[in-house]
Amino acid sequence: MTTTPVGPVTVLGLGEMGRALAWTLVKAGAPTTVWNRTPGRDTDLVAAGARGANTPAEAVHDGGLLITVLLDHASVHDTLDPIAGALTGRRWLNLTSTSPEESRELARWAADHGIDFLDGGIMAVPPMIGTPASALLYSGSRTVFDAHRPLLELFGAAEYFDTDPGTAALLDFALLANMYLMFAGFFQGSAMARTAGFTAADFAARAVPWVTAMAQGLPEYARVIDSGDYTAEVQHLAFQKAALDAISRAATDAGVGDTLIAPLAALVDRQVAKGNGASAFARVTEELH
Ligand code: NDP
Repeated sequence: MTTTPVGPVTVLGLGEMGRALAWTLVKAGAPTTVWNRTPGRDTDLVAAGARGANTPAEAVHDGGLLITVLLDHASVHDTLDPIAGALTGRRWLNLTSTSPEESRELARWAADHGIDFLDGGIMAVPPMIGTPASALLYSGSRTVFDAHRPLLELFGAAEYFDTDPGTAALLDFALLANMYLMFAGFFQGSAMARTAGFTAADFAARAVPWVTAMAQGLPEYARVIDSGDYTAEVQHLAFQKAALDAISRAATDAGVGDTLIAPLAALVDRQVAKGNGASAFARVTEELH
């Protein structure tokens, strides 16, 4: 007979991510109770050994770690407010994407009801859960993190930051901001390339190695930002302004427009107007604070 490494655990929310997490738990042999607002999302999980609950109250009755994987902050309150009294003394991990302030609000709400609260940010899409490519960021209750670490590591690499319940969410959204702007760059570039007859696939085949190579420069940008020394020998802000202006003209001439380029060009322009044209490109970060 094998021993159960983790559990018991209750998962509220069986959307794409909730199902991926619940399946990971069930496959690991954790006693898992699941609930979803719309019935029928648990059929295969129940067939595989999970216990399906009809209501949140019924689900949390089983005890163990409570995990919420719902749409947003409001849906967490919609689900937990009516059963707050049943959660006193429980440990709760919120994996719903909430802003740092929303995570802190959930932590205060939890404290008011005697619940130990850990917040998490999932740096993975559902098929990555349980694979080495998955990483989750945590902040809030160290007690909850330490007590359930083997369970958390089933989902992916588990990293704890600090007791501020907003820290994990902030880093999560910072990484997502980086990701979305990278996607925006692809949309801009592929739109321009398509006006010359290239398909988006043609462009992607070139963009992946190009962006991958350019990403290797991020640690050097980081070194400059962290040092606050913006001395630049080459590719200073005036050079970047000329490049961005040329890209804007190329995009506009192609009929694509510079909507996505313009905000970055504006930050560069403001730094140049302040007399920092000879500074390193990374000095644009000063415009973000
Ligand atoms: P889905 O849209 O697939 O599922 C949303 C879930 O929230 C469903 O279970 C839905 O129930 C439930 N829900 C929505 N509103 C309410 C409500 N008012 N009361 C109760 N339940 C509600 O989203 P995911 O599962 O993909 O995402 C869940 C969380 O995980 C989100 O916060 C998301 O940002 C985060 N996440 C998702 C990632 C992804 O790639 N999918 C990556 C990283 C984080 P119903 O079925 O009844 O509609």
